[in-house]
Amino acid sequence: MKRVYNFSAGPAVLPEEVLKECANDMLDYQGSGMSVMEMSHRSKVFDNIIKTAESDLRKLLNIPDNYKVLFLQGGASQQFAAVPMNLMKNKKADYIVTGQWAKKAFEEGKRYGDCIAVASSADKTFSYIPDCKDLPIREDADYVYICENNTIYGTKFKELPNTKGKILVADQSSCFLSEPVDVSKYGLIFAGVQKNVGPAGMVIVIIREDLISEDTLPGTPTMLKYKTHADAESLYNTPNCWCIYVCGLVFKYLLNNGGLSEMKKRNEEKAKILYDYLDSSKLFLGTVEKESRSLMNAPFIVNPNVITDPARKEELEAKFVKEAKEAGLENLKGHRSVGGMRASIYNAMPKEGVIALVNFMKKFESENL
Ligand SMILES: *Cc1c(COP(=O)(O)O)cnc(C)c1O
Repeated sequence: MKRVYNFSAGPAVLPEEVLKECANDMLDYQGSGMSVMEMSHRSKVFDNIIKTAESDLRKLLNIPDNYKVLFLQGGASQQFAAVPMNLMKNKKADYIVTGQWAKKAFEEGKRYGDCIAVASSADKTFSYIPDCKDLPIREDADYVYICENNTIYGTKFKELPNTKGKILVADQSSCFLSEPVDVSKYGLIFAGVQKNVGPAGMVIVIIREDLISEDTLPGTPTMLKYKTHADAESLYNTPNCWCIYVCGLVFKYLLNNGGLSEMKKRNEEKAKILYDYLDSSKLFLGTVEKESRSLMNAPFIVNPNVITDPARKEELEAKFVKEAKEAGLENLKGHRSVGGMRASIYNAMPKEGVIALVNFMKKFESENL
């Protein structure tokens, strides 16, 4: 068996320990005589899996009692509609547009009400997080929306926006559980788990209880009402049982490894290794303003000021991705909309993987410059 260092943005690397546990449980989950994929979501065994997953997540994030945790399907993208359908009382929402995912949420929001972009970093191809200390938030805005970590562009809010008392909604898909957060500052957090937490097919929603009500936009499907799932404790219909189980194992793994403050420390250490090298490199260039750099997703390109022929630049980038793959460093191609390269270095990427990447980059630089 050979495992590679997988820098995919998502679905992404999972802790090896967790994968082994899954393998071990596969045919007979804890004496039940069946796998988690085969059991009823109403069974006692599964009830214990989902309850334990929730209570471990609450411990990890220190989630206050007045917040509900929901394990839902439809991915993060479905929340782009669910959020306005459930939270728009005045049919007005203010969005901070810092990349493609925020833009998609913004466009979807416009289908349901009057949405405006109160800030954007589109002017510099989303390479920074705008100053959000004093934005023109509307008096009657139902919420302020952010994408906290921009998976494609590699930026992260280091400070939450001043929402002027309005509810903050955050898409945390690619930074969820990468560091401690103060949940009480948010009205709603959601995260597609396939980035930093588990397998594809689930989104976790953490929502303040007073925001859950029957009072949704007319026509809101039953399955998109937070109340439906909150009342049924995420078992209104068949949930993604397998995903809940694997996420539960990851939560245990995180708790056993020092929790989120330890993850933050490790993630800062890993990101520093990569960014320090990028800052000293002649051939490679990080594309994000330093103050806005994500700990999770690091995009970089061949420096166009050094390799001035665009065709040669592209050729070198393709060569880099190909040779990296041959060296056991996979999925380093940048998002199709940005080009270049991107290394996603989520919780489960060991420090050794980042060191191997930097060593490879140094070698590539010396051979190609
Ligand atoms: C991947 C991603 C999404 C989309 O997630 P799906 O689960 O595929 O819908 C949304 N937001 C962010 C920040 C992402 O990284």
